[in-house]
Parts: sequence; structure tokens; C-alpha cells
Amino acid sequence: MKIISNEKVIYKFKHEMEYVEKILPGEIVKVKTNDCWFQQITTEDQVVKEINYEILNPATGPLYIEGAEPGDLLKVKILCIDVESKGSAVAVPNEGVLGDKVENPTVKIINIEDNYAIFNDIKLPIEPMIGVIGVAPAKEDGEWATESPWKHGGNMDTKDIKVGSTLYFPVKQKGALLALGDCHAIMGDGEICFTGLEIPAIVTLEIDLIKNKTVKWPLLETKEHTMVIASGDDLEEAIYEATNEAVEHIKNCLNIKWEEAYILASLSVDLKISQVVDPKATVRATIPKYVTTTKNIIESLK
Ligand code: CA
Ligand code: CA
Repeated sequence: MKIISNEKVIYKFKHEMEYVEKILPGEIVKVKTNDCWFQQITTEDQVVKEINYEILNPATGPLYIEGAEPGDLLKVKILCIDVESKGSAVAVPNEGVLGDKVENPTVKIINIEDNYAIFNDIKLPIEPMIGVIGVAPAKEDGEWATESPWKHGGNMDTKDIKVGSTLYFPVKQKGALLALGDCHAIMGDGEICFTGLEIPAIVTLEIDLIKNKTVKWPLLETKEHTMVIASGDDLEEAIYEATNEAVEHIKNCLNIKWEEAYILASLSVDLKISQVVDPKATVRATIPKYVTTTKNIIESLK
């Protein structure tokens, strides 16, 4: 199995990128990821503003997937996320939902023991997730710093991007050019203080291709749902985009009138806040598999 070093990273998702490794469809690969600070935070007495902000959110890769062409879907199944034994989380003035109230910049170094994060004496069951994962954006969409989410994926900070889930990205460049980083051992919806439990990890992925199918926003398949992950300048815009795409998927795969799909979505789709602290806000619209399956949604795509 190929193991991708965490020394080869990008800070921008661009249409043109030099790949670090070629992967065949169906291949399983291990990707080593850095934490969002590139491991610059190691002690609680560290001053966050003194770290080098030029090297935040490194994403390992990109990987070139043989045979991937614009107009295909890249399928990425998350088989395993092995996190290290220690991570960090911070509160920084003017960051996060309540950044105006932070008077004392605070760093927490948090140990992981037997699948629990130990916060003071509280045990939090970890549920590792990938914060940043994406592919080369379309040329007309420009360049995206790894700190931002958009149609190519990127910093979606969605806690359902976890073991057992499968992502589907629209391929916009030959080889797709997949890169990832910024794993969290645990994070709540919203990521309200601006970090999850930031931690280096080794991520095992099964990578595959679905030819001649595309989506506007990435899809995420979990055990019980298909989720549209959309972002916008604010929550309103992200909600509109996620809802609009989810209703389109329901309409197309059930072959019903748009208004019927809209009503069906209102009865069954949950809108969930992924994160509100990155340069764009991210929302996911979750379509239950009892309405339609991920397979049906993908078959109905053009
Ligand atoms: Ca993030
Ligand atoms: Ca993070």
C-alpha cells in the first residue's frame, strides 16, 4: 500500500498543481496529515499570535488518480483515521462565534487515551474527522486557499467526514488532484471557537472513479444519509445552495415535480451547520436513504 508523506503539502487548491503520487482507481492509500498548525503548537504557554500563519492548514498531496477526467466523480471512502496521542485547541481574540469576548488567549493541549479526549477531567469520546479535503477546482473558479471551503471541497469542517463515510467530488482537472489535512479528533457542529481538537493523523482512503457523472457541490454518503455539503458567504447563502441542490437531487432521481420534491425535502431533509468560522460558512442538507439512496442519486446525475 502506498504511504503518502506529510512533508508534501499544498496551501492552495489550484486548477494546475504538481502531483506527488499516482493512484489507480480502486486503490487503497494511506495519507499522513499534519494538524492545522503544521505542529507548531506544542505547549499551553505558547502564544498563538506568534506562530507562523504562512503555513496553516497544510493539505497533503495532491494525488493524481489515473483516468480521472473533468466531468467524472471522484469517490473517496474513508476507511480509517488514526489520530496521534495528543492534540490542541485554542481560543483566540476575534476568532470564532464569540471572538469579541475572548480576553485571555488560551491553548489547550489535550491527550487522547483509549479513544477518549481528556479535557481537564472530562472524557470526550473521540470521533475523528477530516477538516480539509478536496480536489483541483474548475479553472473558472480560481484558486482557493486551503482554509476555505467551496465547490471543490477544501476546509468543509464537516464532522460526518469520518470513518465509514464516502465523499463524491466533481472532477475538474485531469487526475482530479486530491489533497487532505486538518484532521480533528472531535468537533461539534459549528466549530464555534474556531478550532476542533487539531491533531496529526494517518488517513486510509479507498479511491475510485465514477465516469461521466457530476455534481455542483460535494456529496457525502453516511450510513443513513446522502448529504450535500455547500458553502456561502454566510449561513443564509450556504443554506440556499445546500437546499437547492438537495431538492434537485430528489426531483431528478424520483422523477417527480420540483414542487413535490421541495415538499418532500421539507418533510425529511435536515439542514445541519457544519462550520461558521472559516472564510465561508458551510451547511449540509441530509437526504435520508428511505427517501432515495446515494446510488439512485448518483445514477440520476448527468
Ligand atoms: Ca478546518
Ligand atoms: Ca482545524
